[in-house]
Amino acid sequence: MNERPVMMKIEKAVDEAKDTKTFWFSGRVGAKPGQFVMLWLPGSGQKPFGISYQERGSFALTIRRVGGFTKELFKLGTGDRVGIQGPYGKPFSMKGDNVVLIGGGYGTAPLALLADEMARKGKNVHMITGAAGKEFLLYQKRFEKSKVKTTYATDDGSFGHKGFCTECLVDSVKSGNIDYVYCCGPEKMMVKVFEICNKKEIPGEFSLERYMKCGFGVCGSCTLDPTGWRVCKDGPVFTLEQLKKVDEFGKYKRDGSGKKGKL
Ligand SMILES: Cc1cc2nc3c(=O)[nH]c(=O)nc-3n(C[C@H](O)[C@H](O)[C@H](O)COP(=O)(O)OP(=O)(O)OC[C@H]3O[C@@H](n4cnc5c(N)ncnc54)[C@H](O)[C@@H]3O)c2cc1C
Repeated sequence: MNERPVMMKIEKAVDEAKDTKTFWFSGRVGAKPGQFVMLWLPGSGQKPFGISYQERGSFALTIRRVGGFTKELFKLGTGDRVGIQGPYGKPFSMKGDNVVLIGGGYGTAPLALLADEMARKGKNVHMITGAAGKEFLLYQKRFEKSKVKTTYATDDGSFGHKGFCTECLVDSVKSGNIDYVYCCGPEKMMVKVFEICNKKEIPGEFSLERYMKCGFGVCGSCTLDPTGWRVCKDGPVFTLEQLKKVDEFGKYKRDGSGKKGKL
C-alpha cells in the first residue's frame, strides 16, 4: 500500500465509452476488487477511483468526465504523471458460487474486476450492466472475451433490455438460484437492488460513494448517519445487513462542507 501519493506515469488513456476513459498505469497496487485509490492531480486536489483492471504489472482506473477535476484529468495522456495513493477500503468478500453483479454507469468498473477474479476462481458469474444509452455501456468486448454471462440494459433501449438494469435482476432472481449479489452504481438503483434482495432474502454487498477528502479514515467527511461508519475505511463495500442500519442510505449524502444534499 502506498501511504503517500506515488507519482505514476499514465501509460495510456483509452476511450471506453462516451465521456469515459480508462487510464492505465504500470506497476502493482495489489488491490482486491472493490478497493479504490486516491488520484492526486497537483493543483486540483485528489479524488477516489475504483480499480477497474488489474493485470500482471499494470492496473487501470475507468473514469467518467463529470466536473472540474475530471475535466482536468481528461486533458492528460500518455507520459503525464499523477499521484496514486492506496489501495484503500474494504473489498468485496467474493462469497457465493452463483452470483449476480449489477452495475449502473461507471459502477460497473469495480464489478468488472470482481467478475474477472470470481470467474477465474470458477464461480458462476452473471453481470448485469446498465447505462443511459448504448454509448455509455462499458466493457462489451471485455465481457465477450470472458466466461462471464452478461445482460445489458439501456434506459433508451438502444442496446439490450429497454429499461432499468434492476428489471433484469428481477428476472434473474425469478429464474435462477442466486446465492449472492454484488452492486455498485447510482444510489437510487442500489436501493432498488437492496429491496429486491431483502425481499428474496438473498445476501448482498453494495459499494457506496460519499465525499472523501483523505481516503483513509482521518477527515470524517464520508461518515454515515447514524452509525458513524466511514465509507473510505469501513466501506466502501457494505453488506445488506449493515445497510439496514444506515438511515441516510437512499435518502441523502453530504457534500464537501458536510451539508446534507440530494443523492
Ligand atoms: C469509493 C469511490 C470510488 C469511485 N470510483 C469511481 C470510478 O471508478 N470512476 C469514476 O468516474 N468515478 C468514481 N468515483 C467518483 C469520483 O471520485 C468523483 O466523485 C467524480 O469523478 C467527481 O468528479 P469531479 O470532481 O470532476 O466532478 P464534480 O462536479 O466536482 O463532482 C461531481 C459529484 O461527485 C461527487 N464528488 C466530488 N468530489 C468527490 C470526492 N472527493 N469524493 C467523493 N465524491 C465526490 C459529488 O457528489 C459531486 O457532486 C468514485 C467515488 C468513490 C467515493
